[in-house]
Amino acid sequence: MDNINDKIENNLDYSYFINPLSSRRRPALTRELTKLAYLAPKEAISLAEGMPNESTFPFERFDITMKDGSVMSLKGSTLGAALQYIPTQGYPPLLKTLKDFTLKVHNPPNWNRSDVLITNGSQDGLSKALEMCIQEGEPLLVQNPLYAGIEIIISPVKSKLLPVDQDQYGLNPEELRSTLEDWKEKCLQNESYKMPKMIYINPTGSNPTGTSMTLERKRQIYEICCEYNIIILEDDAYYFLHFLDELVPSFLSMDVQGRVLRFDSFSKVLSSGLRLGWVTGPKQLIQAIELHIQSSTLHSSTLSQVITNNLLQSWGFEKLLEHFDTVSAFYRARRDITIEAMEKHLKGLCEWTIPAGGMFVWIKVHGVTDVYDMLMNRGLKKLITFVPGHAFMADPTKACNYIRASYSKCPPKHIDKAIKILGELIREERELLRIKLENCT
Ligand code: PMP
Repeated sequence: MDNINDKIENNLDYSYFINPLSSRRRPALTRELTKLAYLAPKEAISLAEGMPNESTFPFERFDITMKDGSVMSLKGSTLGAALQYIPTQGYPPLLKTLKDFTLKVHNPPNWNRSDVLITNGSQDGLSKALEMCIQEGEPLLVQNPLYAGIEIIISPVKSKLLPVDQDQYGLNPEELRSTLEDWKEKCLQNESYKMPKMIYINPTGSNPTGTSMTLERKRQIYEICCEYNIIILEDDAYYFLHFLDELVPSFLSMDVQGRVLRFDSFSKVLSSGLRLGWVTGPKQLIQAIELHIQSSTLHSSTLSQVITNNLLQSWGFEKLLEHFDTVSAFYRARRDITIEAMEKHLKGLCEWTIPAGGMFVWIKVHGVTDVYDMLMNRGLKKLITFVPGHAFMADPTKACNYIRASYSKCPPKHIDKAIKILGELIREERELLRIKLENCT
């Protein structure tokens, strides 16, 4: 077998991916000095920092009681650090912990040319990565259906979404190739058309379909992206929330060319209110996103970062991974209850793929062309809420007969009831359509 180091070919020209708006960003001297202040020896004297003096803050100590009964205390210099400004890239001890963790889990082949950046959750990283690259009218390849958070980032840019259909194993490589070939043809015919520079993929426990991509698929897609010079946005918010026997290696783990930006998030496994995620990828792209953060939030919440770092330090990676397994087991049990209810109440009315991870099941309704009114009018009146599939389609204006059901928060005893009502609703809708059709003929 080839040594992976022999395959590293990082000669990408990242300026091709960074648009003029992003390339005009320059580092703020004050932010750069904050970075230096963190690295400076203890005896260094600084009158440079524009930070408030934390001794004036009203907080003396934070005691956080954990579910295992232990208490995490933030006091003294740790509390001082938690209440203060930090370098944009992240709280240095957490940044180091996340780098070590990423190396342990993914062992990225291009690690020496990669960097990590802490964000306010992965939505923040994704929006800044897209803003760094996509310009008005330019195309973005997306898995279809896709996480609704992407459409809202790019619709103001008037980007054209190039949808690539999925099956039970996620995005289909053959579909990707034919979408690219068709688009290439259009570009040849019309100079104003450009080839896509990025693809958005949510590979594990995908939102909204619950599907997970196989390793073979990832390899094929990676190769196609190399061929067409495309950056992969690997949004893996549910990576540790999988129901498979083992983790499927990530796109980052096979990225010999430096064309993957990977988005991880603590939202589903520690707390979404912490608003913490991290982006890993080529230094040049990470730096462009960092400069955007310098101009917006300055950095993600220090308090959240310090709490998270203390937790990771006290647990170590083994316990963290054990915690992820516990969280996965919780969702797997909820998934099973949901599928059981669907077998009972929706058989013959709908079809679905059993989710391989995440919190969602994607339901195709038979005999109904559009579920919007059924759910948003009659469904809400019956006090059940499901998301109409339109919310996740590259073209949300088209009729859609899919529904996203989430099994994360609904108590098990209510899942069965809601699915039963959904079955009744679908039957009623089909009856209404039948009567309508009869009246037309
Ligand atoms: N990506 C996907 C696929 C998601 O489902 C979500 C949250 N629903 C996000 C990103 C954003 O998560 P975060 O809280 O990390 O911003």
